[in-house]
Amino acid sequence: MPFKVAVLPGDGIGPEVTDEAVKVLKATGLDIEFESAPFGGAGYDDCGEPLPAATLALCQASDAVLLGAVGGPKWDSLQPLTKRPEIGGLLAIRSELNLYANLRPAKTLTPLIHASPLKEGRSMMDLMVVRELTGGIYFGEPRGRRDDGNTAFDTCLYTRVEIERITHRAYEIAMQRRKNLIAVDKSNVLETSRLWREIVTEISTQYPQVSTSFMLVDNCAMQLIRDPGQFDVILTENMFGDILSDEASMITGSLGLLPSASVSDPKGDIVFGLYEPVHGSAPDIAGQGKANPIAAILSASMLVRYSFKDDATADRIDNAVEKALANGTRTSDVFENGCQIVNTSEMGDAIVREL
Ligand code: NAD
Repeated sequence: MPFKVAVLPGDGIGPEVTDEAVKVLKATGLDIEFESAPFGGAGYDDCGEPLPAATLALCQASDAVLLGAVGGPKWDSLQPLTKRPEIGGLLAIRSELNLYANLRPAKTLTPLIHASPLKEGRSMMDLMVVRELTGGIYFGEPRGRRDDGNTAFDTCLYTRVEIERITHRAYEIAMQRRKNLIAVDKSNVLETSRLWREIVTEISTQYPQVSTSFMLVDNCAMQLIRDPGQFDVILTENMFGDILSDEASMITGSLGLLPSASVSDPKGDIVFGLYEPVHGSAPDIAGQGKANPIAAILSASMLVRYSFKDDATADRIDNAVEKALANGTRTSDVFENGCQIVNTSEMGDAIVREL
């Protein structure tokens, strides 16, 4: 049976970079059936909804979803807000598909070490932030204002079930990596963090091969800059993960390099997930062949690794990206002297050649 991948190219540079990711997946020789559907601004233009019912149904019937990016000035003033690609599209698909675990790897690519703000002498970085995506202070009730609007409050709330399921996903990922998990919290202050620590401690006994430790979030923010090489898997709640994953990802250098995954519960051998670059639709460079497709291609590699559990093929894709860069093939965002500037599709071709 072929794997089934739903492809949602989206808007702006989304279709350009997604084409390259699909090209690379086809070149791996894996048996994958692709089906595309409109999403985001393209969904709105097509049938008046950023997440058309048929697109959602296609995703639900697939093993994984490959997404480009959505949004752009054309749809920025749509009313009501649920017609906008980011709200009615992205946020809606994450909650409809129950994508509670957000995986954000951040890795120094050796040929691009010059692009990192942390120059020579610092450790190489290869870490994964596993962020809880559908709970915590971003979703807790009650929230609101009182005293004529002069006092505001949010609620940070976590249930055992929410913490347990993401903790298992994080340990499974640690088992596929260097088997080192650091759970990041603020347990010296927050009750929710103390519950996280209790549950992570309990679950850690089921993964004795993984070394588990705890770190306070303020220290983690500092340690990421001081010595990013010390981290393998960082497991954390929604808001801390939001901030730490952005901090870690920028240590690599360019937005055009950063993949991400949002995964849900395993269905048998397959872990259902949605894979997308961290960047947006970049309307300023859309249609010009300038977009770097590497974030989309590395998202496709994550799809193979986490949904299909095929580490060997994912490693081949990751190595092909590094080799193409090492050969001096560069899109303009990561250009340096002595390299050859190529367009989006030529970058994809160079990576396919290295496969
Ligand atoms: P953006 O990520 O689209 O672009 C920021 C800057 O990075 C731009 O200068 C752009 O040219 C550059 N850039 C981004 N991706 C690149 C790539 N692959 N190669 C080379 N350069 C790249 O962020 P923005 O400009 O703030 O937002 C543009 C639109 O994208 C907005 O409508 C926003 O809402 C949307 N957006 C969507 C997502 C998503 O779909 N997940 C994420 C962020 C923003």
